Amino acid sequence: MASTTTAESTNDIVIYGPDCTVYNDSPGKAHVLIIGAGIAGLTLALLLDKAGVPFDIFEKSADSRTVGSALYLGPDLFSIFHQLGIADEIIEQSKPCHSIDVYGEDRERQFKIDFNLLREMGGYEGRLIPRTVIYNILLSKVPPEKLHKPMRMLSMTQGENGVHIRFANGSDFEGDILVGADGAYSAVRQNLYEKLKKDKTLPALDAKDLPFSCVCLAGHSGPLDPEKFTELKDPQCHFYNTIGTDKPYSWAYFTTQNNVACWNVFLYLDKESTKVHNNFRTTDWGEGAVGSMCDEVREFPIPGGDGTLTLADLIDGTPKTQMTKVMLEEKVFDTWYHCRTVLIGDAVHKIHPAGGQGALLGFHDAIALANWINVLPSKRVKHTEYIFKEYKKERYPFAKAAYNHGRNMSNVSEKALKATITRYISKNMPHWLWVLFLKKTSAQRPQASFLPYVEDSGTVKAAYQHSYVKTAKMIKDQAAAREAAEAAANEAPPAASA
Ligand SMILES: Cc1cc2nc3c(=O)[nH]c(=O)nc-3n(C[C@H](O)[C@H](O)[C@H](O)COP(=O)(O)OP(=O)(O)OC[C@H]3O[C@@H](n4cnc5c(N)ncnc54)[C@H](O)[C@@H]3O)c2cc1C
Repeated sequence: MASTTTAESTNDIVIYGPDCTVYNDSPGKAHVLIIGAGIAGLTLALLLDKAGVPFDIFEKSADSRTVGSALYLGPDLFSIFHQLGIADEIIEQSKPCHSIDVYGEDRERQFKIDFNLLREMGGYEGRLIPRTVIYNILLSKVPPEKLHKPMRMLSMTQGENGVHIRFANGSDFEGDILVGADGAYSAVRQNLYEKLKKDKTLPALDAKDLPFSCVCLAGHSGPLDPEKFTELKDPQCHFYNTIGTDKPYSWAYFTTQNNVACWNVFLYLDKESTKVHNNFRTTDWGEGAVGSMCDEVREFPIPGGDGTLTLADLIDGTPKTQMTKVMLEEKVFDTWYHCRTVLIGDAVHKIHPAGGQGALLGFHDAIALANWINVLPSKRVKHTEYIFKEYKKERYPFAKAAYNHGRNMSNVSEKALKATITRYISKNMPHWLWVLFLKKTSAQRPQASFLPYVEDSGTVKAAYQHSYVKTAKMIKDQAAAREAAEAAANEAPPAASA
């Protein structure tokens, strides 16, 4: 790494890291190291690739995972899918989804959460896609030489001269920016917070464990019989949510392409059972201990088909390798960056999936961060911290709002009194209030400032996007300055010969 300026020569910034004697003043764009090839990390990788920013992405798992249920992709994501050239593939592999039907155990519909209006407001149809399918679409677009796996990051050091990371297999890597996109149990976050804790600069709330009050069993079936699950024949997704009458469970399933259904069972924990589950906390989404929970819930009734279906029909149609059981933590951290390290996705905000916004936040984080990295003026820490601050300024309010939305939506399915009240409000919400909420949701349609702008037919105007507006102007100004310099060079009189 070429470095030219001694750190001692200035005192305007704090120096960190093992070798703090030199600044990294090497020319060219900053080299970005992304830890975690999940939805957020892969999206950032694709964007940096389009922007021509050098990067490497590291994933601890050797194989593409098949676990997880489905993700809702709202209209707010389709502009960026078009910019990335993956919209058609996503549409082909997903089903339009415009409502959630909430049922009781008697298989009678209690009410409908209808978000059909989003279609006109946002200019695109919201769609439901198995998590594995979108994961594989993103993965297939990353240049293979930039994806390193299995590579589990263990530790890091960072300073004025760069960032240095070490992996479980003994290898190490250097770069200019480290992005922690490594999910809820982020090793990057843990390393960073450890250091800040030693320096006594970590906020007390960030030092606490991720709290949780819910366990989720998730599955992604193999092809099911459309004569039995008749809704599979419908080109629209059917999203059925059932609330247990006298049990602390709710369960949902969604029909997707290729006769596949994805499903979730949520178990809401009281204080005592939270303690028990905490002893067996699963450290990641993975093929967890699904067996006993499957046995507990098999006989739960589900709507659809001929009216006699139960969860057993879904469980038996789902290979064991496509089921997982996880704790659902909920927390928005306060510390999003420091020095050369920045966090995105679940690494910095973990929210309840009932709100359907976990993946969406990861996508949106990646867009905002890519916009800023693309215009980074130098590799110095004062500049990395500047763009990280701007990134957090844009994204933090959305993470907080999504956290609250996830809480409210999970209340719709819980059993406590608060949940009964939330359900009452959901059922009886005035139409104008619901429309207001949908308008606000559909207005968030972020785009990358370094790719051609995508027009849409949304009737609600796209909201102000801080990173887009600021960085698009910087790109324009830089281009104008380059043109002016070139013009001046062309006009300069030839140097007199000796
Ligand atoms: C396998 C899986 C299944 C999921 N299923 C669902 C679901 O059904 N419904 C739902 O709402 N949400 C699900 N989620 C969560 C949802 O995808 C995320 O909320 C959202 O997409 C945010 O993604 P992320 O990229 O921030 O984190 P994640 O999707 O969690 O990705 C983080 C990635 O980092 C990798 N990683 C972790 N630690 C390290 C390390 N030390 N070194 C290198 N790599 C590391 C992980 O293996 C993972 O690939 C699932 C996540 C995973 C990983």
